[in-house]
Amino acid sequence: MSALKRFLDKILLLDLFAGLAITGRHLFRRKVTIQYPEERLEPADRFRGMFRLDAERCIKCTLCARDCPIDIIYIDWHQETNPETGKKEKVLDRFDIDIQRCMFCGLCEEACPTEPKSIWLTTKTYELASYDRWRNLYVTMEQLESWRVRPKYTDEEVA
Ligand code: SF4
Ligand code: SF4
Repeated sequence: MSALKRFLDKILLLDLFAGLAITGRHLFRRKVTIQYPEERLEPADRFRGMFRLDAERCIKCTLCARDCPIDIIYIDWHQETNPETGKKEKVLDRFDIDIQRCMFCGLCEEACPTEPKSIWLTTKTYELASYDRWRNLYVTMEQLESWRVRPKYTDEEVA
């Protein structure tokens, strides 16, 4: 039976017509091409985009760095005595992420014990393309704290 079907497929070009039928159906559907960068897709709420960091909330436990499977989070801190309370406090010196190797797996966010999280990946920023990977894909604490806007690409946005 299957040999007969294969023979008929070859003679009558059934596969070809099946393919053409799919093409024909899509020909009259609404087109979904997005004219980037004038138009942009809005990612889903669960999209893992660029990182954000709340350095105030961060307790400098370094769990995020330890849970990162490829060790691209670099955290340095020192202890200082708060002159108002007299208590010793941890102060962040460095919180860098080497984004160029990041898998956006979200394990760092998962490991963070603060509530809400001090590091998270839900800013919907997916426009991280760059001509200079060392300058633009290695982000510092200051950049992580202030990363809110998308890059300006269109003439109107740049103007
Ligand atoms: S998202 Fe994954 S790979 Fe990227 S910094 Fe966090 S733990 Fe590391
Ligand atoms: S896991 Fe959270 S609280 Fe701990 S160092 Fe990382 S960002 Fe800070």
